[in-house]
Amino acid sequence: MRAIKADQAAQLRLLDLQSVDSALAQLDHRRRTLPEHAEIARRRDDRAAVASDLVAVDTTVSDLEREQAKAESDLEPVRERLVRNQKRIADGSVPDPKALGAMIEEVEHLKKRIGDLEDAELEVMEQLESATAARVQLQTRASQLDTELADLERRRDQQLAQLDNEAGDKRAERNAIAPMIPPQLIALYDKSVVSHGGVGAAELRQRRCTGCQLEVNAADLRAFKAAAQDEVLRCEECTRILVRTAQSGL
Ligand SMILES: [Zn+2]
Repeated sequence: MRAIKADQAAQLRLLDLQSVDSALAQLDHRRRTLPEHAEIARRRDDRAAVASDLVAVDTTVSDLEREQAKAESDLEPVRERLVRNQKRIADGSVPDPKALGAMIEEVEHLKKRIGDLEDAELEVMEQLESATAARVQLQTRASQLDTELADLERRRDQQLAQLDNEAGDKRAERNAIAPMIPPQLIALYDKSVVSHGGVGAAELRQRRCTGCQLEVNAADLRAFKAAAQDEVLRCEECTRILVRTAQSGL
């Protein structure tokens, strides 16, 4: 391990830098884990499912409308024929009794046929009614989800903007601190941050490394005591940069 030297003030600034970086990491974590993200994702899934149900119900409605129109147009000539026959029977324009008898019989057939066609049409109309009601329900659900989504997105954006503001402040703080630390110590810190989950520098407090929380053993403690103030120490356990303060207990 290459020994680096940096005066004590710079080492203490490194702890400030670490605290700013930890705050920035926490802000980033909060950005990524806002509860609104999951809520929005869930409603988008729901909204997509409703959209696809709407496409299906639209198809059903237009199929049934076509069926109803067909049932109506099937009925039309039969009704016309019934009216024509009934009129001819009523006005006595069929003098032949045999023909009249056949016509009366046909009138009964036509009535039966009309009844059957009307029953079939009624069934289509009932299906159409329930499909239309289902469509209205889906449309209501869709606009409800759209409203909820817009609301959640607004809340998410507000919180992101607030977190961005806080991060901006922290970055300004960082920009003020960083120049007070020698570049080679910063470089060592940056490497340590990457390999230690965001915490590259730790205070030695009450003979304990606050990075890994382990107590420094007696031999290492003697070495730390003997080390010059400007010598940059490393924790023997976790290899983080270890900064001495008035609370180190040395
Ligand atoms: Zn440690």
